[in-house]
Amino acid sequence: MMDQLQAPVTSLYGVGEERASDLAALGIHTVRDLLEYFPSRYEDYRIRDLTEVKDQERVTLVGMIYGEPSVRFYGKKKSRISCRLLIDKVSVNAVWFNQNFIKSKLTPGKEIIVTGKWDKAKLQITVSEMTEKGSTRAEKRSDLNPVYPLSAGINLSTLRKTIERAIQSHGRYIEEILPHELVERYRLMPRQEAITAMHFPEDADEGRLARRRIMFEELFMFQLKMQAFRRINRQQNQGMAQEIPMEQVREFVRGLPFPLTGAQKRVVKEILDDMQAPYGMNRLLQGDVGSGKTVVAAIALYATIKAGYQGALMVPTEILAEQHVHSLKGLLEPLGIQIALLSGSLTAKKRREVIGALQMGLLDVVVGTHALIQEDVFFKNLRLVITDEQHRFGVEQRRVLRNKGLSPDVLFMTATPIPRTLAITAFGDMDVSVIDEMPAGRKPIETTWAKHDQFHQVLERMRQELINGRQAYVICPLIEESDKLDVQNAIDVHFQLSQYFRDYNVGLMHGRLPAKEKDAVMQSFASGETNILVSTTVVEVGVNVPNATYMVIYDAERFGLAQLHQLRGRVGRGAEQSYCVLIADPKSEVGKERMRVMCETNDGFELSQRDLELRGSGDFFGTKQSGLPEFKVADLVSDYKALEVARQEAAQLVATDEFWQDKRFAHLREYLREEGILDGTVLD
Ligand code: ADP
Ligand code: MG
Repeated sequence: MMDQLQAPVTSLYGVGEERASDLAALGIHTVRDLLEYFPSRYEDYRIRDLTEVKDQERVTLVGMIYGEPSVRFYGKKKSRISCRLLIDKVSVNAVWFNQNFIKSKLTPGKEIIVTGKWDKAKLQITVSEMTEKGSTRAEKRSDLNPVYPLSAGINLSTLRKTIERAIQSHGRYIEEILPHELVERYRLMPRQEAITAMHFPEDADEGRLARRRIMFEELFMFQLKMQAFRRINRQQNQGMAQEIPMEQVREFVRGLPFPLTGAQKRVVKEILDDMQAPYGMNRLLQGDVGSGKTVVAAIALYATIKAGYQGALMVPTEILAEQHVHSLKGLLEPLGIQIALLSGSLTAKKRREVIGALQMGLLDVVVGTHALIQEDVFFKNLRLVITDEQHRFGVEQRRVLRNKGLSPDVLFMTATPIPRTLAITAFGDMDVSVIDEMPAGRKPIETTWAKHDQFHQVLERMRQELINGRQAYVICPLIEESDKLDVQNAIDVHFQLSQYFRDYNVGLMHGRLPAKEKDAVMQSFASGETNILVSTTVVEVGVNVPNATYMVIYDAERFGLAQLHQLRGRVGRGAEQSYCVLIADPKSEVGKERMRVMCETNDGFELSQRDLELRGSGDFFGTKQSGLPEFKVADLVSDYKALEVARQEAAQLVATDEFWQDKRFAHLREYLREEGILDGTVLD
């Protein structure tokens, strides 16, 4: 069957090449893309009751003009009209700026509909749109008008019209994709109706029902992928049991410079159990910064090596790779284990050597960025892949490895605190382990908030730490001046501080430095030669310099709370008391509250909860680092229950034979194939 919705947008009436390229800029290529390009919000023209309107809200009101309007002029072009309106026996002031042509329309006794911003204290509306009651324009206008994210080249009314036409001509080709049992069980609006109502809801209720349906569909399709992936992974990777000599592992743990925390012991057991099980491990390890994930990774690597295999550790940046090589060597090299770095900064010769050694099995562990499991890298017998931060080790990477005849156990480590229940649901294909306990004797970081004009005092406080032999970080948001953001840049700050602290070495680190230089800067800081490191956020994850006890974060209001917490975790890693100073002049109440929250708590999980309360999920979880899925319509936090329901339904469905065989699920299997979850060869 030809899928009408797959037709290019140019097949729509009124859409030519030019319009098509405007649409392409929005990611819209086919009619289906267009129909599924949902509004980000609606302009609300419902007429409101004065008593329920909030201060500064955009509202639509209807009232009767009484008294003559008055006009005032300022300068050549500026004017202000004001006019009294009677609304529910209340006298309200309506004002228009720079629209003096309006005056002639404001005849006393006339009823008008005005839309604009409401000032509660002054009982005043600043009008942006006006229509006469009963006019055709007022009658034709719908109560809820969709507003779409736009890019240059196409305006809102054109896009609205184009979508409206597409619904008229192609709406009937929209088919149900959810199993009908689900549509019935959860009383979901049928797909065709829901897509139409997402764009042009008759009223708020219909809009809500449409959103509910599309939200559920989005979550279900996501969970279907996750659950199918999980199932296939378990089936295909049978025979994956690693034979780990547990006594040797125990001995290794006993030989560590510190006893494991209870939480570390628990997660180590969960991980080793998975590795010894007949299926492939796919596990998420969550733990706040400083909770001791690296040593857990080292134990898992040790176990796999003693079972006779190789391990790989993937990290997002070269700096981190080097840090990890350093700490792993400290733990594993004394035991005769061979570890190497494979990164872009190696010379071609060195790189060839490392790759050759990996292929021959002369190396046990390799550390590097994502590229290390791809391209021309081959392993003798890779059985454990650990990823640290940012990397979602997904379908694509597994395929690459499978093509090399490898299906390793996978452990994904993250410091982004996501409430456990949400993590389990949102990473539906994974098992979840949490380190929810800090090593004993850690002193909580003391965080304070200072204004920019207190910078001098902050630096003097920093000098005290330096005098005591400690080191400091100064973090700046961007490396170059940007008109838009007008942020202090690292290079400037580095220059200032070099002047200010003439007796100390001030280093500069940012993402644009060549890899060689980055290494040198990092090495110099790690060795204590550099006293102060001015840096952009590249030091965010994993960097470990226990002697650094002081951190200043410039323009702290520009960072999200999750990121501030990550950055702060670079100090407080040794036995000494550490400090973090947030320099910020936030304007909004929420901004100020966020600074206060940072000062009050050191607990990442609590922080994530407070941030959610302040901002909703988008901002916090929007951080790429969390690895959480992003949806068009659904919201992980407010739609959490639906996500859980979707997970259960999807898991049940993929556990049935019908799902894999029955014709009525063919479109869902096709979807899994398109998403790379199903290899063409596996089934059907
Ligand atoms: P994470 O990667 O979770 O941020 P790390 O693994 O880098 O944390 O550990 C932070 C610091 O704590 C390191 O210096 C590490 O040696 C130390 N550490 C880890 N586990 C323990 C423990 N059980 N007791 C004492 N110190 C520990
Ligand atoms: Mg770490």
